[in-house]
Amino acid sequence: MMSPHPLPSDSAGPAGDANGAAIGPAAAGLQARRVYHLRMLATPFLLLIVGASAYQRSLSPWALGLLTLAIVLWPVLAKALPRWLGRPTAWEQRNLIGDHILAGMTCAVIGFNPLPSVLLMAMTGMSSMATGGTLLLLNGLTSSALGASLAVMAFGVNWFPESTRIDVFCSLPLLLVYPIAISHIAHQALRRLERRRSELEHISQHDGLSRLLNRTAWEKQVRAEFTRFQRTHEPVTLVMADLDHFKRINDEFGHAAGDEVIQRFAALLRKGLRSIDVPGRYGGEEFGILLPGTDAQTALQLLGRMRQRLHDEPLLKDHVVTASFGAVQLDASFKRHGNWIRRADKMLYEAKHGGRDRVVVAVGMQGSDAPADTEQHHEDAAAPAWKSQADAPQVAAPSALPPLDIAVDAERAQLSLALLRTFEKADMAVGLFDPQDRLVMANEALLRFYGPSALQSTMHSILANLGDTRGASSQAGRTGGLEWASPLLARRRTLQVQRVIMAMAGHGLVEFQETLTPDGWLLQIVEPAVASRPASPRGGTVIPISAALAGHSLRSQPSHRPDKAADDEKPAAAGELSSVENWSRRLASRGYKP
Ligand code: GH3
Ligand code: MG
Ligand code: MG
Repeated sequence: MMSPHPLPSDSAGPAGDANGAAIGPAAAGLQARRVYHLRMLATPFLLLIVGASAYQRSLSPWALGLLTLAIVLWPVLAKALPRWLGRPTAWEQRNLIGDHILAGMTCAVIGFNPLPSVLLMAMTGMSSMATGGTLLLLNGLTSSALGASLAVMAFGVNWFPESTRIDVFCSLPLLLVYPIAISHIAHQALRRLERRRSELEHISQHDGLSRLLNRTAWEKQVRAEFTRFQRTHEPVTLVMADLDHFKRINDEFGHAAGDEVIQRFAALLRKGLRSIDVPGRYGGEEFGILLPGTDAQTALQLLGRMRQRLHDEPLLKDHVVTASFGAVQLDASFKRHGNWIRRADKMLYEAKHGGRDRVVVAVGMQGSDAPADTEQHHEDAAAPAWKSQADAPQVAAPSALPPLDIAVDAERAQLSLALLRTFEKADMAVGLFDPQDRLVMANEALLRFYGPSALQSTMHSILANLGDTRGASSQAGRTGGLEWASPLLARRRTLQVQRVIMAMAGHGLVEFQETLTPDGWLLQIVEPAVASRPASPRGGTVIPISAALAGHSLRSQPSHRPDKAADDEKPAAAGELSSVENWSRRLASRGYKP
């Protein structure tokens, strides 16, 4: 007869309430079942109370019989009504009113015996208060009064204002068991509510498709990490990543495949990162990654591995989906966490602009706007082979790049020399420019490509002279300026690696690749890549450099380097063919024995 709805409706909040209104019919059904069990539990105790009264006093047999029937049938009826009539939630409230009416009738039949009557009012009141608050309690008490009045009208007035010891003992079981049962159900409901609350919290913080943090929650973590940095100054790097040409994936394979790619990329992030790293979906096919305790150098390696993995284990069957990454190590130059995110986004833009499928890393606010050779690093899709060699020059720590003078560091000079020896044999033109843009090392292929004036040149002047040295119909010749080379020149020193493909008269499409090294800028003309590309739309044919330059007479010339050490150098002998020999001599003149 008494039935608590164990969740106070106003503490349940908007997400779910005791009536199950917001947790759906299944949950409401569950709720009705629990209440049914509670009513069934109360039934024998109620019969005990009524029986004790009947045993001690003379009660109307009609009243006793009908009341007993009502006590036994009511739980079953209360359970069935919501099912028969629908709207279980509304019916549960009505059933509570039914509990009150029955309690009122019982009080009247047992002659308002104080202890059991107060007990019945307290138990039904507890249920109503817990379920519907004061209003339901007041309605319930009114209904109890109504039930009592009906019983008085039907069976006459009984008045037994003294509770005997038998009344006390027969009331105790209900007094003991019912509150515990209510508390148990309330406890379970609160646990359910807590589970639901944390589910909702999870849903509100995570993106449904990728199951990563959503933008709002991820930015909150960025803000927290930003604040932590102000205190600890421990390295922390923020990454923005974006899938390349994602629109094409949708167009070619369908939106469902696009979704799958997003899910797999998210899984790759989760798998490839440490538990303290925080990946999030920033929006669409753009992701943010927070790397606590990670400097730019480490981030570069980590993201490089991730980039590689996208090639090794394609996100779509038989189709490699690449991603571009922009990463920025936090430093004191950022005043707000938003600037840090924007900066990483800018690096991502650089990665996209540089040809996608690559990693661009910077430290602090400086980078592409500042001299790049001190701030910015780049992991390129076509990184030169020596990057993977154990003894290869490391990409220097962002702010620790030395002043780039080949003559300063004997070890580095030897290393560079060893590199040039390798390149000397390669079928591609290779040159090393110092920070002042002067060509300080070149292999034979490059010298042959540019002609004897190469060693006196800067990258700028080499490009400017291309029209003169390689033919009158070059673009330079036509425009009379360097506009045609502006893509290469404009982005020089802004990227760790940049590749530019240009149509050159007499050479068709030529691919230049410029790489930041600890010693300066390494220029490569990537002949094999050129050969594999379609012929120039201008009709120029791609000619291998070696073939194009066969028979070209070469004279290497003394460097024009204005520094003092360069003055000591002996001019190289005319006809000297090997730039490595040339450089061995130059280094020897500075006291190094390569
Ligand atoms: P870019 O290499 O420059 O990043 O080119 P892109 O095509 O990846 O970039 P763009 O921003 O032009 O297009 C992104 C597309 O991603 C547009 C949008 O339809 C699609 N997209 C965004 N969110 C979802 C998603 O949840 N599922 C799927 N399937 N596609 C999405
Ligand atoms: Mg994209
Ligand atoms: Mg995008």
